[in-house]
Amino acid sequence: MPVTPRETLKTLPAYAAGKPPTPAEGLTPYKLSSNENPLGPVPAVAEAIAAVDTLHRYPNPTAESLRAAIAETYGVDAEDVVAGTGSLGALTQIINTFAGTRSDGGQDEVIYAWRSFEAYPIVVRTAGAKDIMIPVTQDGRHDLEAMLAAITENTRVILLCTPNNPTGPALTHTEVAEFLDRVPEDIVVVIDEAYHEFVRIEDPVDSLALCRSHPNVAVLRTFSKAHGLATLRVGYSIARQEITQHLRVVTVPFTVSTLGETAAVASLQHLDQVEDRVEELVEERQRVRAALLRTGWQIPEAQGNFLWLPLGEKSLDFAHEAGVQALAVRAFDGDGVRVTIGEPEANDRLIALCTTYTRAACAELTE
Ligand SMILES: *Cc1c(COP(=O)(O)O)cnc(C)c1O
Repeated sequence: MPVTPRETLKTLPAYAAGKPPTPAEGLTPYKLSSNENPLGPVPAVAEAIAAVDTLHRYPNPTAESLRAAIAETYGVDAEDVVAGTGSLGALTQIINTFAGTRSDGGQDEVIYAWRSFEAYPIVVRTAGAKDIMIPVTQDGRHDLEAMLAAITENTRVILLCTPNNPTGPALTHTEVAEFLDRVPEDIVVVIDEAYHEFVRIEDPVDSLALCRSHPNVAVLRTFSKAHGLATLRVGYSIARQEITQHLRVVTVPFTVSTLGETAAVASLQHLDQVEDRVEELVEERQRVRAALLRTGWQIPEAQGNFLWLPLGEKSLDFAHEAGVQALAVRAFDGDGVRVTIGEPEANDRLIALCTTYTRAACAELTE
């Protein structure tokens, strides 16, 4: 008999990581498939990392200096911050703490919007919990009413992704506050804010206020996107001690390396420069979206560092055409294509491609 994994593994979708671009004659290749920050980290990060001389030592077990820097930057209590290996690590801690298979064999339920972040089903199902996926609306928004209606006595966690990856729209503060008023207090509500620095809406979610006022709210943040530190795997959750006391039980020590911690702290110390870079990308996002809207594309509100092209059955074909132009984009078969805002030249090439890409395809979509 060969070794046998847990049954739940059969239910897991494979995480299709964004692919690198294929080179094409005379074209600089660009990777627009993983929502990475094309501008990279601020210069102080490289200096800080170069000065690390403790590679042979284990890191601080709970990333103390990182938590202190986050506390100071955002006016939260360092005790309320739990570091993770990326915010995906922080999410895994939360799911493993609150949702799984019960001793009677029943499954806890985790509600989230779909389509949303591809990693959610993997994290939730691996924990042994059951995921309840609530379709996003036509314009890529969370259907909060339907999510509330999906709550049962088995619901343990609800995930809100704002802005939603890959569709783009952000929730407003009013929406989330009213939603929380209607969620039973024993259900953990996670607000995944991987892209919060990029949000430019009226009434943006003040998630830190919400986790102060609600003992069942946890906020997820990351250094992978705005801070341009994806490879270092640094993220964290912020929540009250009603939640964090349990997270600390499941959290394995040394989740963040000394390099990651050092880089993240240096980046927070230069937050103004980080914000300038984010602003550049936001302006590019608005430029690209406006250009595509002008040529007849229908693109949902985009509040992250990416755009959603709702191409339906044409998604793989479009991704192929982008590939021919040495642009790697992320296609979700039968649904749409997510394109990261990249370097201006990459964005220009995307606009050109979208402008020429069978206008007929657009026409079909709008019918
Ligand atoms: C990119 C992303 C993350 C997390 O990334 P980490 O690199 O693990 O911090 C989390 N949530 C969403 C919605 C994302 O798009």
